[in-house]
Amino acid sequence: MTASTSSTQTPTTAPATTFDAVVIGTGFAGLYMLLRLRELGLTARGYEAGDGVGGTWYWNCYPGARCDVESMQYSYSFSEELQQEWVWSERYPRQDEIINYINHVADRFKLRPMIQLNTRVTSAVYDEAAGLWQVGTDQGDRVTARYVISAAGCLSAARVPDIPGLDSFKGKWYHTGNWPKEEVDFTGKRVGVIGTGSSGIQVIPVLANQVAQLTVFQRTPNFSIPAWNRPLPVAEQDAWKVNYEEHRRVAKASRSAILYEYSQRSALAVDELERQREYDKRWARGGNNFTHSFNDLLTNKAANDTASDYVRGKIRSIVKDPAKAALLAPTDHGLGTKRVCVDTNYYATYNLPHVSLVDLRATPITKIEPEGLRTTDKLYPLDAIVFATGYDAVTGSLDLIDIRGRGGLALKSKWHEGPRTYLGVMTQGFPNLFMVTGPQSPSIATNVIMSIEQHVDWIARLLGHMNAQGLATAEADAKAETDWVANNNELASKTLFPSANSWFMGANIPGKPRVFLPYIGGFGNYTNICEEVIAAGYKGFHLSPPAPGGKA
Ligand code: NAP
Repeated sequence: MTASTSSTQTPTTAPATTFDAVVIGTGFAGLYMLLRLRELGLTARGYEAGDGVGGTWYWNCYPGARCDVESMQYSYSFSEELQQEWVWSERYPRQDEIINYINHVADRFKLRPMIQLNTRVTSAVYDEAAGLWQVGTDQGDRVTARYVISAAGCLSAARVPDIPGLDSFKGKWYHTGNWPKEEVDFTGKRVGVIGTGSSGIQVIPVLANQVAQLTVFQRTPNFSIPAWNRPLPVAEQDAWKVNYEEHRRVAKASRSAILYEYSQRSALAVDELERQREYDKRWARGGNNFTHSFNDLLTNKAANDTASDYVRGKIRSIVKDPAKAALLAPTDHGLGTKRVCVDTNYYATYNLPHVSLVDLRATPITKIEPEGLRTTDKLYPLDAIVFATGYDAVTGSLDLIDIRGRGGLALKSKWHEGPRTYLGVMTQGFPNLFMVTGPQSPSIATNVIMSIEQHVDWIARLLGHMNAQGLATAEADAKAETDWVANNNELASKTLFPSANSWFMGANIPGKPRVFLPYIGGFGNYTNICEEVIAAGYKGFHLSPPAPGGKA
């Protein structure tokens, strides 16, 4: 442990330059990591690009932003007191409520003195001779740390597509993942939204209530299930809280670390009437539970077709104009092979007279002009453009940082054919660099807060072990990594996921290697594997004492 600074000193009064650990980002992952590092007695600094904590949720303050995991589950589980005392207001939490919650956590656990806001980590270079990382920021900080822990997030590198002429646009433009903090008034405006993923599907119905004319530019339609969001009575929360620990235990043993009603039946093992009954029941309950109506929807195309057909039928029944309904019904991928969206009034919004839908497959965007957006057939005059065009997911936030490991190897170069990790937590050649919810870990295929906690706890246990044993360096073994990557790809190949052009596959970023990014073997299984690795003496990791003369 270095004795550079007390974890309770503020950056402004004590500009330290040496820490045991640097944590990149202070969303859900970074905050919990800082807490665990402090408990270990390690000095740590969390660098945060925003001027507040919250990570992805800090930036995604667009109208309608809300989580699609229910409030009682989308929260930390590490503190029984915390989960007992917090009171949510709705079935699904709004973005501002999540931000209030995460600020409460930062205050309650006195984490703010460990955090430097408005500071983006730009480089992390491993000094092999010293066995230490040199970390640089856009504010000119140059600090040294034994450990670097990326908590930079899976969905934090917002991507504006490269459309010629954006600079010439006379109106205002926004990205949902980088929304301004001040309120944007769209009253009376002609607004265009590009993108119909989870963000677009949330922002479109809310904007439709404000604007004079809304034009949605859709390249690929997505499946969306109604949220049926509602106020969450305190009595209902209290009833849940009686068994909070048990709910968490059961959730963590499941595939997605969320308490869904996981079916044990194949969709093809029941007759048409029974399937319809099951889908009706799940549709009426709302949310992502729908994807678990049968146990083979994500592995068997014929099974999946039954669920996809059901939702396509729902779209036709909601959207009055048959031409619009046909455009909104996905046909190029099965339900759940891209992240299913959860909405409030999404499809019904297209019945409003001032909402129109442009099919970019038929008439692609050619450029943006001062007056608006031009497709191959016409110019759409606009006062504002909202990009709901997604993220360079999972690896994008790491790519923004110049990370160099042994021999000066850039992480980007190592990963030029796709990310390679062991357990999604470390990558060989980059000693003491940890990734919370890195590629090839369950992360975005689960309730990400549960995945975050599991990773942070696992990393903290390893650091505690190293401290106790006088070890200086942890590094993934090359063969363990190769096997893990192969295992990850094999698991994905047994599902229908690779059949969709999704951000799960890196397919939304031109030139990004097509590699399935999350571990899809289930959160419960993954946790067991991580425990087995520890029980076998950190199998697949090289743990080394300090080299003579300090070299690790
Ligand atoms: P996304 O799912 O990647 O969707 C991006 C949309 O933009 C797609 O419709 C895409 O079309 C379109 N697009 C991208 N580039 C385009 C271009 N050059 N021209 C025209 N259209 C273009 O991104 P997202 O909606 O931000 O969601 C990302 C993830 O964030 C979600 O899957 C979810 O995990 C998370 N999220 C969660 C919530 C929630 O909890 N409720 C809310 C928002 C986001 P193509 O499909 O044709 O590429």
